[in-house]
Amino acid sequence: MRIHGKEIRDNSLGIYVHIPFCQKKCLYCDFNSFAQLNISDSGYIDAVLKELAALVQESPVLFNKKLETIYIGGGTPSLIEPYTIKRLVSSINQTCPASNPQEITIEINPGTVQRDSLSAFRDAGVNRLSIGIQSFNDTMLKILGRMHSPQDSVLCYEYARKAGFDNIGIDLIFGLPDQSLKDWEQDLKKTVFLKPEHISTYNLTIEQGTPFFNLQKDNRLALPPEEEQVFMYEHAITNLKEAGYNHYEISNFSLNGFESRHNLRYWQCMDYIGLGAGAHSYVASLDRNRQGKAPDWGMRWWNENNPNLYMEQITGIATAVAGKEILTTKEAIEEGIFLGLRRITGIDTDWFSKRFGWSLKDLHAHKITQLKIKGMLYADHDTLRLTHQGLLLSNEVFAELI
Ligand code: SF4
Repeated sequence: MRIHGKEIRDNSLGIYVHIPFCQKKCLYCDFNSFAQLNISDSGYIDAVLKELAALVQESPVLFNKKLETIYIGGGTPSLIEPYTIKRLVSSINQTCPASNPQEITIEINPGTVQRDSLSAFRDAGVNRLSIGIQSFNDTMLKILGRMHSPQDSVLCYEYARKAGFDNIGIDLIFGLPDQSLKDWEQDLKKTVFLKPEHISTYNLTIEQGTPFFNLQKDNRLALPPEEEQVFMYEHAITNLKEAGYNHYEISNFSLNGFESRHNLRYWQCMDYIGLGAGAHSYVASLDRNRQGKAPDWGMRWWNENNPNLYMEQITGIATAVAGKEILTTKEAIEEGIFLGLRRITGIDTDWFSKRFGWSLKDLHAHKITQLKIKGMLYADHDTLRLTHQGLLLSNEVFAELI
């Protein structure tokens, strides 16, 4: 049944800046990041700022939205000199007419920062850190090909606190080669002991083109069996909840009020602009090439991945868009379901109807009933969300619904 709803348009914006530099490529990583790039930090940031300035000029209506979050991710953004980060943040604030970011995050890797550099990031306006610790177990870190030691991680965390950061996230990975449940419990224990405001726990996935992919193909990667990985995830949920963390997204936990505002934008289908090599953007409410005119269901575009080509194109024509697509109603709805169910509170059915003009339960009545019978979904008048069982097997639920 098509209902009379009107689309919900929010009036805010987030900016993601991609920094593609890394010291060395980790063995599991398929992110758009490169070791030994012959590009200066400062030249790269110049390109990012030129890209932004051109976008603001091209789509003034879009940039009249309130800029609420800036997220500097990578790669390893902490390899960039703090004064360059300061120039980046202040230039974004100056270029975007409605800039008022409450959250400015930078991803950092242990071993790449000192106390002084963290203080300088804080002076630059950064108010949230996301530290890629991944594991506190030295053997695991070596298996992953990480550059840092567990001691580097603890030191980095202590420096961050001393530098005045009161919003710190720690990233962990589980399901690692040769990792036992006990190893994972230790990682969780050590993380909780540090009391970060935010914890992300990602299940290792083996991506094509990575050294791990080849090792797995040759049967040389001893990953824990799938049931054990599910058990590890369940363990994280139980332990982190017991420690006072709110489980708010499939892989994310936070103390009250410390959810990642920037990442919540992704899960709530809100607008974000990605700057830099390989960065993706999504705008629900405006087609950047048809100012003021709403596209069917949102538009997505992405930049050239190769940092050298990105810089060349930006230097030449101030854009490095490699592709774009306008979402169809079907794609937008599927994305709304997929992203909405990632949040533990699930999908507000009223929001869904208003945004898409369709009742979620009418669209998928049969599948929802089936998944409810299997104990994977909970649905009442107001919400649709994953149950505990659904969380453990979320990929199955998504495959069923989408
Ligand atoms: S530091 Fe992060 S982005 Fe860089 S190679 Fe390792 S996992 Fe990938």
